[in-house]
Amino acid sequence: MINQASAFKRAACPLAAVALGAWVVAPGTSTGPSGLVFVNAAYAQEAEVSPTMVRDRPRDTYYPNTEDLAPDEMRVIACGTGMPTTRAAQAAACFLVELGNGDKFLFDIGSGSAERISSLQIPYNYLDKVFIGHLHTDHFGALHDLFIGGALMGRNIPLRVWGPSGPAEELGTAYALEHMQKMLTWDLAGRVGNVDFGGYSMEVTEFDYKLENEIIYEDNGVVIRTFPAIHSIDGSVSYALEWNDLKFVFSSDTYPNKWFIEYAKDADLAIHECFVAVPDLVSKMRFTPESALLVGTQVHTAPEAFGKVMSEIQPRLAVAYHFFNDFDTSTSVYERIRSTYDGPLSLADDFMVWNITKDEITVRMAVTEERTWSPPLASPAKAPGENDKLDYAEGIGLPADVMEFSDFTKEGFWDVDDVLRPIFEDASETLGREFPYPGDQ
Ligand SMILES: [Zn+2]
Ligand SMILES: [Zn+2]
Repeated sequence: MINQASAFKRAACPLAAVALGAWVVAPGTSTGPSGLVFVNAAYAQEAEVSPTMVRDRPRDTYYPNTEDLAPDEMRVIACGTGMPTTRAAQAAACFLVELGNGDKFLFDIGSGSAERISSLQIPYNYLDKVFIGHLHTDHFGALHDLFIGGALMGRNIPLRVWGPSGPAEELGTAYALEHMQKMLTWDLAGRVGNVDFGGYSMEVTEFDYKLENEIIYEDNGVVIRTFPAIHSIDGSVSYALEWNDLKFVFSSDTYPNKWFIEYAKDADLAIHECFVAVPDLVSKMRFTPESALLVGTQVHTAPEAFGKVMSEIQPRLAVAYHFFNDFDTSTSVYERIRSTYDGPLSLADDFMVWNITKDEITVRMAVTEERTWSPPLASPAKAPGENDKLDYAEGIGLPADVMEFSDFTKEGFWDVDDVLRPIFEDASETLGREFPYPGDQ
């Protein structure tokens, strides 16, 4: 019986957990329900220690890019677990699923999550598939950051996005993302010609929000299904990803519904929204009691209802997200969940990491970089194409002359050629090829 949510935040070295098996070899390791692994200090002391290096130390923390993913292993990283009311501590909904076959998928990309993603330092060509559950900004508000920033940081292939239709054309994913790209017209027009433009396009797949457990993605042994969610108005969905006999389920936002009960059954990792407790909505978020009751129980899933859902579907590990996970409010969420569910549970926070195999699920927190630059490139950087500017203008029906500064603006240039020209001369000399100064052309 697990009776402390914090217990699941403890960690196991995934390699040790996978290789050894919790009950069999590793002394000092105990197993919770469904093979969840905890490692205590006695196990950690088994590492080979010297004054200059600690070998094979079971890590309580996940450091991105320091661990191989086993061929049969799934890793899920919370890149956002919060709310539309933005805060530095928790970005809005975003979960990264990484598979041992090399595939990676983003489920929702809420406001603030792009920074979390970048801090993992994953080459952006590998982050080209996004599945949006519904079109609230706390579930897709960072898409344009991934679209633009990801292309600047090395993605040179289109960004692929899947999302549901709505009850009207204007309420569907295709409409939203077509207009997002229109919103970005100045941004794109201002960049084209300066950088490789291969990554600045979006391939959008809109599917019927009424599909019931139907496949919307199938490749490389990975199957992703969608089923309806109930949230705000029609046009919200949940997802299930199946690969290698492992099942990941993500609700996005929803009131408890029959589809999740049916299609999330037996999931290895079931992530379902779980909203702030009603009294805390009043005291901490300044809701009126009327709004708190409505939003906290009818628009979203109350913690008590989350527990009831998980008791029914019995996942190997239930993950609650979509609340501010603070010292003074997580207890009320936790106690309310525990009034209806006593199985394995994580109260999600940003950078919580789950390593999942058939035998074990380990739960840790990641320690990430904040001052990130670009991650390694998955394919070599290219110079901008000579005709990119004109091609872009033509593609959206703009006259070519708007892609250059007007005479009005040109007259505003102040002469700093004397300090800029040496930068080009230096580059030419250092790199052994000629970089003509633009002002001389
Ligand atoms: Zn929502
Ligand atoms: Zn939401």
